[in-house]
Amino acid sequence: MRRRFDRRFFTRFIIVAGILAGFSACTEKRISDPSASKESTSIEVFKWRLVTTWPKNLPGMGMAPENLARIVGKMSNGRLQIKVYGAGELVPALEVFEAVSRGTAEMGHGAAYYWKGKVPAAQFFAAVPFGLTAQEMNGWLLYGGGMELWQELYEPFGLIPIVSGNTGVQMAGWFNREINSLADLQGMKMRIPGLGGEVFQRAGGTAVNMPGGEIFTSLQTGVIDATEWVGPYNDLAFGLHQVAKYYYYPGWQEPGTALEALVNKKAFDSLPEDLQEILLVACHKINNDLLAEYTALNNEALRELVERHNVQLRRLPDDVLQELRTISDAVVAEIAGDDPMAQKIYQSFRVYKEKVSSYAEISERAYLNARYQTEH
Ligand code: CA
Repeated sequence: MRRRFDRRFFTRFIIVAGILAGFSACTEKRISDPSASKESTSIEVFKWRLVTTWPKNLPGMGMAPENLARIVGKMSNGRLQIKVYGAGELVPALEVFEAVSRGTAEMGHGAAYYWKGKVPAAQFFAAVPFGLTAQEMNGWLLYGGGMELWQELYEPFGLIPIVSGNTGVQMAGWFNREINSLADLQGMKMRIPGLGGEVFQRAGGTAVNMPGGEIFTSLQTGVIDATEWVGPYNDLAFGLHQVAKYYYYPGWQEPGTALEALVNKKAFDSLPEDLQEILLVACHKINNDLLAEYTALNNEALRELVERHNVQLRRLPDDVLQELRTISDAVVAEIAGDDPMAQKIYQSFRVYKEKVSSYAEISERAYLNARYQTEH
């Protein structure tokens, strides 16, 4: 019995020793094999800076890049870490385009019309007066050829644009006098960016392209006479009701402003494919989320402005809107000018708008008419 026991013990010992030896050899092999070692120990982590045109932590658009950074961090399991800088923290609000182009930051978030001094045709990718709604804008960008043109426009600057947010229909703005005719805009100095600003200028006013963070003080101190910003949700956050009496609608100048994420192309190309995809997916999530946030919260903010702060809500008169529309059509065509790239963008936008408008007439417009008519 003892012999049998010994033999069994010995056999087990040989098996266990063999396993341990094999394990040991395997471990040694992994350590001594440089490629295996690299694979098991080095996970490349990318640390990016994101600069924005928005004041740090502004509700809605200001939080969009913060949410983007959080989502990307989680989806990538920490392999792509994005640190967000608000306007003026790393670069001034209106220098985001240049900063990302030269690689001071790998990424930016803003709106394309802020770069009109450098790239006039970029304005088509933010907002066009009497142009597309948010829903239609997303249609043009994602399924109507807009995104490809936007990428082509930014390519010489080493930048990749990604649509990343939409405010929906904005408000016409804050005034300290009533607007009863176009003559009331004469000589008025108003913060109004993009093509809306060009139209306002043509209508006899002076348009100022100013980042959001400077609006309140400028209006309070009389640097400007009037301003538009976004809509009730963001305008309430800035306290604009404290420095202006009349709040006008509709936002003819920005019917569905697209926001943009800018990515330095070299930085993007340096990412592995899965991180590139994660970044794109996260931007598209922000694109959806932001519009939902504005849609849900503008209404409550407007109620607070009117009921709690006694803001005077006014609709722009029809003849004023008609005149602004006539000027807008001319200005938008002129911006395209003789530049072949700008013409290509303008023609794509114009043709898409015509097509989408006819269907909107029997879909959104017909439905909204039916809804309001049956309500009254
Ligand atoms: Ca605006």
